[in-house]
Amino acid sequence: MKNKVIAVGHNRFNGEHAEMMALRILNHDIRYQNKKLRKKLVMYVIAVNSSNKLSMSKPCILCHDKIVKNNIRTIYYSTTNTECNIVR
Ligand SMILES: [Zn+2]
Repeated sequence: MKNKVIAVGHNRFNGEHAEMMALRILNHDIRYQNKKLRKKLVMYVIAVNSSNKLSMSKPCILCHDKIVKNNIRTIYYSTTNTECNIVR
């Protein structure tokens, strides 16, 4: 399972955020419902602006709450600079 992409999401026109879409897909996969396994998963959230450059992808309160409830313990969000933001 190491280094394997198991769910991908993107912001949708219906208002669903990328994080929620990825979690929805993950929750449909019976292989990843184990709580101990969930804690090992890493979520990467990348925002790209209209110039195709990385931008800040700060989590909204709804996504953050859902990620925590889904036992994802490590999340990396993109920034416009070289700083690393880790949200737990
Ligand atoms: Zn959100």
